[in-house]
Amino acid sequence: MRQLIWLRTDLRIHDNTALLAATQAGPTIAVFLLSSAQWQTHNNAACKVDFWLRNLAEVQRNLAALNIPLLIRSAERWQEAPTVIAQLCHELNISAVHVNTEYGVDESQRDAAVGAQLVEQGLLFKSHHDRLLFKPGSILTQNDSYFKVFSQFRKVCYQRLHNYIAPCLTVPTAQAVLPIEADPVPANVAGFTTVATSLQALWPAGETAAQQRLDSFCAEAIDDYSEQRDFPAELGTSQISAYLAAGVLSVRQCLHAALAVNQGEFDCGKSGVVTWINELLWREFYTHILVGYPKVSRHRAFKVETEFLAWRKAPDDLLAWQQGRTGFPIIDAAMRQLLATGWMHNRLRMVVAMFLTKNLLINWREGERFFMQHLIDGDLAANNGGWQWSASTGTDAVPYFRLFNPISQSKKFDPQGDFIRHWLPELAHLSDKDIHQPKQLGGLFDTTDYPKPIVDLASSRERALNAFKNLPRNL
Ligand code: FAD
Repeated sequence: MRQLIWLRTDLRIHDNTALLAATQAGPTIAVFLLSSAQWQTHNNAACKVDFWLRNLAEVQRNLAALNIPLLIRSAERWQEAPTVIAQLCHELNISAVHVNTEYGVDESQRDAAVGAQLVEQGLLFKSHHDRLLFKPGSILTQNDSYFKVFSQFRKVCYQRLHNYIAPCLTVPTAQAVLPIEADPVPANVAGFTTVATSLQALWPAGETAAQQRLDSFCAEAIDDYSEQRDFPAELGTSQISAYLAAGVLSVRQCLHAALAVNQGEFDCGKSGVVTWINELLWREFYTHILVGYPKVSRHRAFKVETEFLAWRKAPDDLLAWQQGRTGFPIIDAAMRQLLATGWMHNRLRMVVAMFLTKNLLINWREGERFFMQHLIDGDLAANNGGWQWSASTGTDAVPYFRLFNPISQSKKFDPQGDFIRHWLPELAHLSDKDIHQPKQLGGLFDTTDYPKPIVDLASSRERALNAFKNLPRNL
């Protein structure tokens, strides 16, 4: 009985639940759907789509070694997926289709429609739990609702992890050769611009590259993660988010690699290990939020009353933020890092997000969309969660309102200005003190082509506080 593994954001052969299940059930064929119109609707970045395709080419090579042909089909929009998959099953005499579950509203609707179509044709559709450590719905409050506060969610996660940690699954054994030719993986798809080779070089494709990155982080940086993770000029974080988002690495592989540094323990040893595992749990938390509160998948505010915030329509300010021309060096350096590399350091994601939503009082949805259009690790749950947390419309447990001052953040987390100098060479000549807040620019002898601040921090802070104060209560 032939099986079909439909690959999506699970581009690996190691520890892949659906792939292993398919191969254990019978001779297996793989398929990937190109859905450029749908990907555009979801604001996926060109560098992210390019990363998928580069990883897909690697998966194809690895699958070929197992005699599993990878076919490429098109379903421009996901509404076409049921017909395309059903047609393929018919052509290849497939009896069951295996996928790893994805959790956005559109993804769930797509899979439900494909499942219904296949069942109508007498075929099986098996959706496997794989992408997370904990299935959404399995970590609930005593009232059986989804947690809204991370610290409470994390506590239950640790209780579970102390009892059981899912092992990593083996690579399937090679099957007998099938009389089916693999399709070539395209190097690009319509609707997405070509990606600079300098950016591609930062994110090498394939499981070997991903595993090497994880291993070297665990060998060299995880011990100091608690101290180093907030300093963007340091290589203090793993930079594996793109690999996790595309499923080139599994979260189980990450958890086991981190625990191995700590002799398999959570509680003793290096604090960096537990701090890093907490970040993996943030990833879990936001995906559970996406499932438990599906309105966030539709870009609605998590806190209802914040739907009434009087956001400013300020296209020039928005453009200055997007292009890294706000006159605040840490903001501009961070935005230029995003544009050049497809990635931004977590501390700076929070700083630029608060600056946009509070100092500029621009709707968080603008920032969420712009990030998605440029991030190689763009992930609906984490991106929406991060934006709503930063905008105080989301799950932040701090009551009322949180606002970082970008200049204090700059001084604290880039004390010598190394990060700013790297991304804003036009400011490299400034002293360690002035680089956070250039004062002398615009003077008679100044030739620096760097803008003046587009907003006054003190009055814009007041403006944001008032906007939040005036929200309706008890909705
Ligand atoms: P590490 O510090 O090494 O952390 C390890 C892994 O844990 C990350 O790769 C990531 O998978 C996960 N993780 C870490 N922090 C978070 C977090 N706060 N929320 C969810 N998962 C986390 N992360 C994304 O993967 N995709 C996004 O689209 C995304 N958008 C964000 C937008 C905003 C406004 C903010 C504030 C955060 C966003 N994050 C997003 C979370 C975080 O910034 C990145 O995961 C992290 O910077 C990736 O770098 P790293 O792999 O070196 O992380």
